Amino acid sequence: MKNLVVGAGFSGAVIANLIATTLNETVLVIDKKDHIAGNCYDYRDKNGIMIHKYGSHIFHTNNEKVWNFIKQFGDFNQYMHKVIAIIDGIETTIPFNFNTLYDVFPQTMAKRLEEKLLEKFEYNKKVPILEFQKQDDKDLKFLANYVYEKVFLHYTTKQWGVSPNDVDGAVTARVPVYLSKDDRYFQDKYQGIPLEGYTKLVENMLNHQNIEVRLNTDYKDITENFDRVFYTGAIDEYFDYELGQLPYRSVNFKFEEYDREFYQKNSVVNYPCNYNFTRIHEYKHYLNDKSDKTVIAKEYSEFFELGKNERYYPIPKDENTELYNKYLEKSKGLNNVYFLGRLGDYKYYDMDKAILRAIELFEEIA
Ligand code: FAD
Ligand code: UDP
Repeated sequence: MKNLVVGAGFSGAVIANLIATTLNETVLVIDKKDHIAGNCYDYRDKNGIMIHKYGSHIFHTNNEKVWNFIKQFGDFNQYMHKVIAIIDGIETTIPFNFNTLYDVFPQTMAKRLEEKLLEKFEYNKKVPILEFQKQDDKDLKFLANYVYEKVFLHYTTKQWGVSPNDVDGAVTARVPVYLSKDDRYFQDKYQGIPLEGYTKLVENMLNHQNIEVRLNTDYKDITENFDRVFYTGAIDEYFDYELGQLPYRSVNFKFEEYDREFYQKNSVVNYPCNYNFTRIHEYKHYLNDKSDKTVIAKEYSEFFELGKNERYYPIPKDENTELYNKYLEKSKGLNNVYFLGRLGDYKYYDMDKAILRAIELFEEIA
């Protein structure tokens, strides 16, 4: 084998596929888990419902290169993600938009706020909450405080363990206040769920005569030599934490099965004001799976602790970026070892960004 790819998630599968098909070189792909597809792993349960084991995954991208690449490996439906949130007992949509405004406030008040918003901002503009808070007008200041408190404060504290002011602004900017009536969570040109699931998509990427996949195999167990190593595991773990540990958030999904057709009317319902979980996922909505039963997962966020739980979210923060940069610097001293992926790059990549990064790294080395 010429190449070793550590990790069979999207990042590892994309680079392995490109090396095998374009360079016609052999690749060994290992993963310490007992399955491929990393955090995107899904499977059909006994009721025929496609479960996303590590939380709901919705594919979305504006990038033509990524879309053209991924759709070679499976067809997607036209699912466009919407998120319902329960705010003070009122069911509404997130991101906070003009429809949310009318859901949560009396009509006359909503109308006044809408007019003031349209005087100040262009229609269709997306405004991150930390920017939205900078208002001079008394009514808009009230609205900004309302959105901060009701949508962001408690959810972010549950998710990250700190208030929105103490996480990198890019995190809350993922779900900006949206001056629009578009209720979708994403506005990307291409959106959907793979009809046969993400695991099948990754399986198709890895299904090549030049690729061998070994599961339940940690990088530490590998003794062979390779011309190139592509490492999609955690960069600090690669270096035995010699500069210190990079912090992560982990997630605990508590699954529940119900003897009824639906638990909730949407795939994801956020609870920004109540409970200790952040959101509830109901999986059968994604592929319109038919069953008398339904499966949900309540999502609880917690700190990552080595040996106790899994890494899910790198924590974007200056001091963490500084530590990551030190590891990156060290990695430059290695010969033909490349780091990529959410863990290798310590970046809060969505699937499309992880795929693009793998394609671009391949283009660099090829
Ligand atoms: P991973 O999927 O984490 O794969 C890395 C693999 O490396 C793992 O399988 C791991 O077992 C293996 N590994 C690590 N260390 C070693 C080692 N030492 N030896 C062997 N194997 C090792 N993105 C979207 O676009 N849309 C969404 O809706 C979405 N929802 C998400 C929800 C949650 C809760 C989370 C956590 C992420 C979500 N994402 C979403 C992001 C998406 O999961 C990532 O972009 C994607 O999984 C990144 O793939 P990856 O291959 O870089 O990392
Ligand atoms: N967020 C929030 N309230 C919500 C939804 C999101 O405060 O109802 C914030 C929170 O800090 C979250 C971030 O916006 O971590 C990004 O949300 P997203 O849904 O993109 O997170 P992911 O799906 O990656 O967990």
